[in-house]
Amino acid sequence: MRRVTILGSTGSIGENTLDVIRRLSDRFEVFALVAGRNLEKLVSQVLEFRPRLVVIEEASRLSELRERLRAAGCRDEAMPELDWGPAGRVHAAAAAEVDVVMSAIVGIAGLEATYEAARRGKRIGLAAKEVLVACGKLVMEASRAAGSELIPVDSEHNGVHQCMRAGRRDEVTRVILTASGGPFRDTPKEELARVTPQQALCHPTWRMGKRITVDSATMMNKGFEVIEACWLFDLKPEEVEVVIHPQSTVHALVEFRDGSVIAQASATDMRMPIQYALTWPERGPAPVPHLDWRQTRRWDFSPPDPDRFPLLKLAYQAQRTGPAATCVLNAADEIAVAAFLEGRIGFTEIAEVVEEVLGALASPEPQSVADVLALDAEARRLSLQRIRARERARVEQPAARN
Ligand code: NDP
Repeated sequence: MRRVTILGSTGSIGENTLDVIRRLSDRFEVFALVAGRNLEKLVSQVLEFRPRLVVIEEASRLSELRERLRAAGCRDEAMPELDWGPAGRVHAAAAAEVDVVMSAIVGIAGLEATYEAARRGKRIGLAAKEVLVACGKLVMEASRAAGSELIPVDSEHNGVHQCMRAGRRDEVTRVILTASGGPFRDTPKEELARVTPQQALCHPTWRMGKRITVDSATMMNKGFEVIEACWLFDLKPEEVEVVIHPQSTVHALVEFRDGSVIAQASATDMRMPIQYALTWPERGPAPVPHLDWRQTRRWDFSPPDPDRFPLLKLAYQAQRTGPAATCVLNAADEIAVAAFLEGRIGFTEIAEVVEEVLGALASPEPQSVADVLALDAEARRLSLQRIRARERARVEQPAARN
């Protein structure tokens, strides 16, 4: 029996991971559930999966969690250990009993826990791309030193991981990541400034958390994936390409030096890569219906438009600049996306704020996770400052917006 810790169990990836474990309950059991604030969902997960440890974001809500569990019928003798905050997350991911950690906390709140799991040689299913965008060099070094298996859950990287099995690493010349293009794939540039959070949250092919959905609409998500691919597969930015593929069925392609291209295609359902990450190198029974090839009428591929989606270009630049730049890129984007969702800035201002902050914050390469967290905090502070400045400018000049 393999014991699993899920960082971000109440999120979209977390719930899909639990569904995979539910189907493979003869091989996997839950050791720890780690969540943020959604105690209602967490309680029902605890009752079903009976973890030994449960971790939430805030200490102030531990007694509420205990009361909710009691009210739901959890007797004191069956009560799991309850913990909170960064130390609790590290405890859940690094405990000796844990074999596999699913890293699926949005943002970098799961960074330390994922890093510590890597240092201890755990199998990591990596969904939280922010971990590698903000701290790729250190996490990969830790993982290599401890022999931790870092299996990507992001469907594109999971696809690359599968394609790589067709040849030797030194035979790979190019990796191609596909992008659905998001809800604004065909929206003219002049209309992008006016799109609403509601429109941005309507992803055409995937159901995901809010941040990644908005990041897909700006194509920042694909930029993060380019950075993630560079770290996971030891590639230079110019060896990673992005193509728009609206059907989201081919997740990635790998080109080998003889010109052969291997593509990975599967149903648009995150349980596929999640299960692969848990069971690799074996393949388990399909967790979702197989692709129906009679229905697969066409696959389209086209290049992305850098003019309408400048954040993709910015991600390439940041990866060339180095680890400090990608850390700032992630933090600035998270703050800008939150401000967009709160209606404080417009859609196209997300890229403007990120570019401003990236240009303003020159920092030496972080040498530790603590350095990364400090730089992340500084980038967030500066991003908020820039957003407030924009709000002030709008109050002074109401016509300036858009
Ligand atoms: P969601 O927003 O659905 O879920 C986020 C999870 O993180 C929730 O469980 C949330 O807890 C938890 N969380 C947030 N902040 C904290 C914190 N400070 N401490 C502890 N837990 C916290 O996101 P997704 O599941 O969509 O995405 C998770 C990660 O996976 C992201 O990095 C995303 O980029 C990546 N990913 C997601 C894909 C998808 O299909 N969804 C595809 C590929 C990658 P709570 O809700 O209880 O507050």
